[in-house]
Amino acid sequence: MSIEDIIREDDIGVYKTLLESTRAIPWKIDWETLRFAYIGPQIEELLGWAPQSWATVQDWADRMHPEDRAWVFDFCVAQSQAGVDHEADYRALRKDGEYVWIRDVVHVVRNPDGSPNALIGFMFDISERKRTEERLLDMQRELEELSFKDGLTGVANRRRFDMIVENEWREAVASGQAISVVVLDIDFFKQYNDHYGHLEGDECLKRVAAALAGIVRSPRDLLCRFGGEEFVLLLPGTDEATAMALAWRCLDLVDKALIPHAGVGAGKRLTLSAGVHTTVPTERDEVLPFIAVADRRLYLAKERGRARVVADGGL
Ligand code: GH3
Ligand code: MG
Ligand code: MG
Repeated sequence: MSIEDIIREDDIGVYKTLLESTRAIPWKIDWETLRFAYIGPQIEELLGWAPQSWATVQDWADRMHPEDRAWVFDFCVAQSQAGVDHEADYRALRKDGEYVWIRDVVHVVRNPDGSPNALIGFMFDISERKRTEERLLDMQRELEELSFKDGLTGVANRRRFDMIVENEWREAVASGQAISVVVLDIDFFKQYNDHYGHLEGDECLKRVAAALAGIVRSPRDLLCRFGGEEFVLLLPGTDEATAMALAWRCLDLVDKALIPHAGVGAGKRLTLSAGVHTTVPTERDEVLPFIAVADRRLYLAKERGRARVVADGGL
């Protein structure tokens, strides 16, 4: 039997069966009275409210999540008044107090003069789709976080540093505020690995990162593992004296972690060296040379005996 045959039969019972056996829930609202002329019995299975309990658009609005209610109501009324077909996703209240994500697809039936006569539509249960969307968003957030984190120590990685430093640099150029960087490197780490083994070396890197994490004062300070046994602390809006003090504090935090380093002598502890640089950048300045200065100062600190901070050193 073709669809034309069904239509020719003009059998209301056929349409009713078709409408009431789909997973989409059909409904009709009379525009003048704003009352439901019809709602499919499937609504009771989905939300628990019997079809007879859907009397007016107020019932529809009342059974909506409070956060969705105002915008969905205003949007649907405005679209209907304008005679425009539309759809809206919202959370519908179930009789048991839970919410179900619904997509309501609405067709505006118009009078010959163009004014709305009735609204007819279908409600679709989209909870499963929403759950999948949310899972995907969670996974995306997780991946993003993982890709900006150093896998060994859990602090930010180089990728994150490169992204943040660009923004902070532009911000410093625009605001005329100072920006500082501290480059930190473990002293005699090769001997550490040689003495304790590479796995212990990894554990040591974790301990150093954990100790250094205590240096961060605000969400704008960024500690990252720059690579190998080198860490970088980016300090936006921080002057030279403060950056210098924070660099010394980094050395102190690691000293207080009491990590033995018998590879350099009995009873010795692990130490760090640091290079610091501060600038108020202009449009003409670039980030890489800025970090390179701190890096050269780090090597001056190494030359001068390690376990120290160099903040000027004639550079
Ligand atoms: P200095 O005081 O001059 O910094 O000497 P150093 O021995 O620390 O410096 P060097 O650059 O010679 O050696 C760094 C060592 O760090 C070499 C490398 O094997 C080790 N290293 C780099 N990344 C890792 C890592 O992820 N795990 C471990 N265990 N060792 C690493
Ligand atoms: Mg080193
Ligand atoms: Mg190094």
